[in-house]
Amino acid sequence: MAEILVLVDHADGVVRKPALELLTLARRIGTPSAVVLGAGDKATEIAAKAAEFGAEKVYVADGTEFTDQLVVPKVDALTQIARANDAAAVLVTSSGEGKEVAARVALRLGSGIITDAVDLEAGVSGPVATQSVFAASFQVKSTVTRGAAVITVKPNAVAPQAAPAGGAVESVSVEFTGNAAAVTSRTARVSSGRPELTEAAIVVSGGRGVGAAEGFGVVEELADALGAAVGASRAAVDAGWYPHTNQVGQTGKQVSPQLYIAAGISGAIQHRAGMQTSKTIVAVNKDPEAPIFELVDYGVVGDLFTVLPQLTGEVKAR
Ligand code: FAD
Repeated sequence: MAEILVLVDHADGVVRKPALELLTLARRIGTPSAVVLGAGDKATEIAAKAAEFGAEKVYVADGTEFTDQLVVPKVDALTQIARANDAAAVLVTSSGEGKEVAARVALRLGSGIITDAVDLEAGVSGPVATQSVFAASFQVKSTVTRGAAVITVKPNAVAPQAAPAGGAVESVSVEFTGNAAAVTSRTARVSSGRPELTEAAIVVSGGRGVGAAEGFGVVEELADALGAAVGASRAAVDAGWYPHTNQVGQTGKQVSPQLYIAAGISGAIQHRAGMQTSKTIVAVNKDPEAPIFELVDYGVVGDLFTVLPQLTGEVKAR
């Protein structure tokens, strides 16, 4: 079976959920091998998790280069491992960094890249990726016709499923080609304790309808009851009611959760562009003519300050 490399994203020694989703998808198109970079003494735990989700092999490379420098060390490692093992495909999470790494790997391998896939299947001449385009109005299937397909996959494309495999660990020594002067600078972020917006299984978003920064209180309470992330429309962000890091849409983040709840959001095309691939969409809006109701699975016409607390109460009661 074709070897499929999966770049395993991890933080604080914990494998991030999108990496488990990649391993789950990789099993559909070949035999997954995990690539674990810069994990230090947590590499063994991370390798074990990757094996639990189907990695037959785990390539481990260590070095401060992976954490202290920009994307080039990861590109070096992935390219060298892909070449040495004649990998059929390389899967990377669709994050800002993931897409940059993937594009550079595809260039170095002389193959091709498909970004923001929402599904993968085996094809006659390699993996076939499904993309959702034009604000999720159409689905496109693509393949890479030359060399190892490099594919970035959106978080929540699939539910991660365990499938224990060999997980043989192979230590890899990487030849770094980058400029050590290009370093990563980090700003400590204050954690809200909520899931990361692009990875969350549930997102509750508030729009101009919440009326003020304090109005996000009812949105956050529902999000916390559901274990969800909080999103916001650009109108709410521009008004200064919620941080830009939480903006969903064309000029914000793209989310694709199992459940998206839009409260006081009209459903402008630029907002839809960031959430339309959500599996189930619920809207709460007091205007029955709001365009958001055109795309929802469930719509509640009502005041969000009445509906959201009722929902929160129901969730907590279960
Ligand atoms: P509104 O359109 O004002 O809608 C508010 C809704 O709340 C209304 O439907 C109203 O009926 C409802 N409401 C009011 N009070 C209540 C209540 N008490 N209970 C229930 N419902 C209530 N927008 C984004 O969101 N993300 C983007 O990334 C983005 N990028 C953009 C990029 C460009 C280039 C441009 C031009 C625009 C972009 N926009 C983006 C803006 C977008 O066009 C809309 O202006 C914006 O999405 C509107 O936000 P909203 O739905 O919160 O506000």
